[in-house]
Amino acid sequence: MVKRVGFIGLGIMGMPMAKNLLKAGFEVVAYNRTPGRVREVEQEGAQAAASPAEVARQVEVTITMVTDSPDVRQVVLGPNGVIEGVQPDGVVIDMSTISPKVTREVAARLRGRGAHMLDAPVSGGQRGAINRALAIMVGGEAAVLERCLPVFQALGQRIVHVGPNGAGQTVKLVNQILVAGTLNAVCEALVFAKRAGIDMEATLQAVSGGAAASWQLENLGPRILKGDFAPGFMVRLQQKDLRLILEEAAELSVPLPGTSLVHQLYRVLEASGEAELGTQALVKVLERLSGIEARA
Ligand code: NAP
Repeated sequence: MVKRVGFIGLGIMGMPMAKNLLKAGFEVVAYNRTPGRVREVEQEGAQAAASPAEVARQVEVTITMVTDSPDVRQVVLGPNGVIEGVQPDGVVIDMSTISPKVTREVAARLRGRGAHMLDAPVSGGQRGAINRALAIMVGGEAAVLERCLPVFQALGQRIVHVGPNGAGQTVKLVNQILVAGTLNAVCEALVFAKRAGIDMEATLQAVSGGAAASWQLENLGPRILKGDFAPGFMVRLQQKDLRLILEEAAELSVPLPGTSLVHQLYRVLEASGEAELGTQALVKVLERLSGIEARA
């Protein structure tokens, strides 16, 4: 039975996830690059470590929840990285969204040290992380997943084994194609509704119960109507995911016209210094095109 879990990366997602592990009764050893953030989990009973290697040395399972492929490479394979401390038969679970190819490379390096890796990216946003309601798509060996199941159950509800290392990240990219297209439709629909002069709250209520219902509509629609652009999921990170999707699609020779369009629309926000806003800020781009603000 896994008792001690390491956690690296206490950002928007990592912080509530680490807290949920503590609530579920795991001993947590935590590391964050900006050290001040560790204090918040220390107050809830976690132990702080000075480096990713020091985390891995003390636990059976180490979770990484950082930004992008180079960051996972750095915290796992870099100086003072997890690989320097990982126990034989230890498990590294990367829950960040990164490239499937880099995932397979990192998994192979860990295998060379007698350790295992699971790629286990998540969907459900900050709210899903807080409410222990994440959907988790897992790539790696089924037996390793089985061993780590109680850890996953402390973080999410739908835990699906989707294949070998890299498959979890590939499924996450599938998820992000769906997210990008759906949110674009939500934003276009709200700008259209505003121009038509209909009641925005009533519109949202009416369409949220039918065939157009979606997580994006239910969670981000009300925030758009209020003009609340605080990030659950930052534009900057969605652009990273869209880049990963389009790179994979290029290798696979799959045309993704809708996803490419959303990537370009988000670039408008990047160019105007708004990449730290939440993804719902996509509506601002459509608002600029139409000259209408989709507020209630
Ligand atoms: P975030 O708030 O920006 O947090 C990123 C975390 O990673 C921070 O703790 C940061 O440390 C750490 N980090 C980044 N680069 C690092 C490096 N090179 N070395 C060490 N630490 C590093 O991002 P987030 O929203 O939690 O997202 C984390 C991952 O989850 C991303 O891959 C994202 O795509 C994915 N994700 C996010 C959501 C969401 O709704 N937010 C949903 C699903 C999946 P510092 O504190 O020092 O900056």
